[in-house]
Amino acid sequence: MNTKEKDLQYIMHTYGRYDVALKSGKGATAFDEDGKRYIDVSSGIGVNSLGYCDEGWIKAVTAQAGTIQHMSNYFYSRQASDLAEKLCTLTGLSKVCFGNSGAEANECAVKTARKYSFDKYGADRNEIVTLKNSFHGRTVTTLSATGQDVFHNFFFPFTGGFAYAEPNSLDSLRATVTDKTCAVLIEVVQGEGGVNILDKSYVKALAEFCAERDILVIVDEVQTGVGRTGKLFAYEHYDIKPDLITAAKGLGGGLPIGVCICGEKAEGVMTPSTHGSTFGANPVVCAGANYVLDTVSDPAFLKGVEEKGAYLEQKLRAIHQVKSVRRLGLMVGIEIDGDAHDIAVKCVQNGLLIITAKDVLRMLPPLTITTEEIDEATEILKSTLEEC
Ligand SMILES: *Cc1c(COP(=O)(O)O)cnc(C)c1O
Repeated sequence: MNTKEKDLQYIMHTYGRYDVALKSGKGATAFDEDGKRYIDVSSGIGVNSLGYCDEGWIKAVTAQAGTIQHMSNYFYSRQASDLAEKLCTLTGLSKVCFGNSGAEANECAVKTARKYSFDKYGADRNEIVTLKNSFHGRTVTTLSATGQDVFHNFFFPFTGGFAYAEPNSLDSLRATVTDKTCAVLIEVVQGEGGVNILDKSYVKALAEFCAERDILVIVDEVQTGVGRTGKLFAYEHYDIKPDLITAAKGLGGGLPIGVCICGEKAEGVMTPSTHGSTFGANPVVCAGANYVLDTVSDPAFLKGVEEKGAYLEQKLRAIHQVKSVRRLGLMVGIEIDGDAHDIAVKCVQNGLLIITAKDVLRMLPPLTITTEEIDEATEILKSTLEEC
């Protein structure tokens, strides 16, 4: 059996895959099992933040794998404490909890927010408001947090205590928050929802509204974090300071990690045995993340992300089938005439690995993508759109 046949035989069909088996890569360039070359502007959904097989990242990860590959959370770990220190210093927040994915990071944020409120106000103040069209993960609780009806099916009963407000509407927020609300959870750019960038005035007003009521603001930076939008975290574009941040995807540079970072308010909330994760804070993963964070947090690197994003946007806008471009840094949604999925399939056939979000084409290229690779990617998109 070839790879595709074996996959179809033995792996649950939870994904509609493109007809490609990837084998290797370097930077934003990937190769399939037949040696065919692709430009990858998806980077494993924003995971390979430094591209495929970054030399420094490989060194950090392999050195750690050859030193100590895992210890339980009952012991102290230098890699984990270094990473936590960096995350706190860079955000101005206080404490980190480690897990292995975005959904787990959000679970931790939900638990922290609820316990904060439990400790201070008692058991009844436990509701969390999220936004319509959001995406927060695939566990039963994070599906509940996700403000899209299509995700609230099959797996009943879902976790209770979530309510959904319209994005960019303060009136809707006011109408959805009750005296039982303990937190508001938002993505400042809704990634899976179609690369929808929240209004600056709305996010600022939301943060003020919540602060006045001691409602914690949780920003899900799983997709937007770690340099993706040209700032280390996307909330920095909004002039707010969240009470909790979650990050995952790009943080590990290709290894599974999820972090929940909390500020002063909630720093003492999670006490021994209230939360845990066997693999959380794994030193090999943290070594990779330390390398990613050291690289990405350099202001010159972040400036480069915005410059590349602006260059990519200008190239995209010059394609006449492109109706509009929504972009923050290197997080890009491209509105086109025609079915985004069909076009993405054709792009892949033509050597461009691209993904979709709702009805837009979505690009989350490695933050290290070169100008030449951007040129090549936009050429392939242009010629593919001409075929359609
Ligand atoms: C991908 C994503 C998640 C879920 O992350 P997993 O690692 O797949 O669990 C949560 N929130 C946002 C905003 C995401 O983009």
